[in-house]
Amino acid sequence: ADAHVAAVAAGRSLNAFITETPDQARAMAAESDRRIAAGEARPLEGIPLAIKDLFCTEGVLTTAASHILDGFRPAYESTVTANLWRAGAVMLGKANLDEFAMGSSNMTSYHGAVENPWRRQGDNRPLTPGGSSGGSAAAVAARMALGATGTDTGGSIRQPASFCGIVGIKPTYGRCSRWGIVAFASSLDQAGPMARTVRDTAILLGQMAGHDPKDSTSVDLPVPDFEKALDQGVRGLRIGIPREYRIEGTPPEIEALWQQGIAWLKDAGAEPVEISLPHARHALPTYYIIAPAEASSNLARYDGVRFGLRVPGQTLDEMYENTRAAGFGAEVKRRVLIGTYVLSAGYYDAYYLKAQRVRARIVEDFRNAFEKVDAILTPTAPSAAFGLGDKMDDPIAMYLNDIFTVTANLAGLPGLSVPGGLSAEGLPLGLQVLGRAFDEETVLRVGHAIE
Ligand code: GLN
Repeated sequence: ADAHVAAVAAGRSLNAFITETPDQARAMAAESDRRIAAGEARPLEGIPLAIKDLFCTEGVLTTAASHILDGFRPAYESTVTANLWRAGAVMLGKANLDEFAMGSSNMTSYHGAVENPWRRQGDNRPLTPGGSSGGSAAAVAARMALGATGTDTGGSIRQPASFCGIVGIKPTYGRCSRWGIVAFASSLDQAGPMARTVRDTAILLGQMAGHDPKDSTSVDLPVPDFEKALDQGVRGLRIGIPREYRIEGTPPEIEALWQQGIAWLKDAGAEPVEISLPHARHALPTYYIIAPAEASSNLARYDGVRFGLRVPGQTLDEMYENTRAAGFGAEVKRRVLIGTYVLSAGYYDAYYLKAQRVRARIVEDFRNAFEKVDAILTPTAPSAAFGLGDKMDDPIAMYLNDIFTVTANLAGLPGLSVPGGLSAEGLPLGLQVLGRAFDEETVLRVGHAIE
């Protein structure tokens, strides 16, 4: 643990952590040493992890990268982190993210943006690590942590994994408990691991997952041995290539990456099959109605009374207003406004209900596709990491980043990003593997064949 605690301190210029927890790390590592010496090692004994600062950690500052949670030290531990500690993992600290996980660049963090450890060839300007789990991705890519937790509502594990050249999986909705994770959009949010290899990712997922009665959407299914699944290879698997993901304006290097991925899987004995997901083109607008709608409701709890920041006022209403005005950043306010609008009387049918109907169609598209194929391969993101601060004046351009990732959340399906190659400028590019509900094993197998 000492080496990783030192690596976290040495990497401070990346701003990957909001809170470092060296004392906890050393205490947990000492316990790990004791267990190892006693021949009682647990599955993740001594493995140092970065925890996205959206997971509540008992007694340890939990900010969601928002000013409004100033000083919030939860009295409880999220189920996912509790599972990891029970398996022997060691907490290095709380990783930076976009405020309330809303963003794709880490620029919306109250604690400042994270820097991607990668640079374009011959160009030293800082790049975004992606988001929202950008601190987690940077910490793993820069070798500060062996793995990290992330959350993914519309791509927040997969896109930063792609931008930082690491692996990340968003499991099936219900695979990991959401209990104790600061809620963004409850019907889309899912926790998952990020690590350097598919194998590490599979091992971490096995310890994070599991039924939790405290989350009514957590599913009571046995947790498979994800690592063991990797040995099965991909021979005979049918891999869907969705026609609709060939989007105009996608850079040629992304198309080339995709073709390369298809070729590798073919070489490994899988069979590529062209498929259609006819409603995929509606996924982004659907997501950007449903996610803000749920967020506006979830964020109503930050009233200056129950958590964190309070800015006084003459009346109770004024106190609410002052607290929320000072506590939320611009992107969070934009989402609360959009969400409140699409849920308001008179617009509910036109926007929210319509979005829910389209969501049902997207679910159906996947159900049909997975009758023909075992997994689906797409690029993870439409580009490599972009410059830190780029696209901040254009929210729509920023939202377009999520074009390939949001469908998996709308349909609740597992999605993995695995490094697939480098861009012309020498930056990592990820390939995305999607699978059937609760079939992370196949998703991981396909990812393992690509890496
Ligand atoms: N980038 C997407 C958004 O801003 C997804 C974020 C996430 O998955 N948490 O909503």
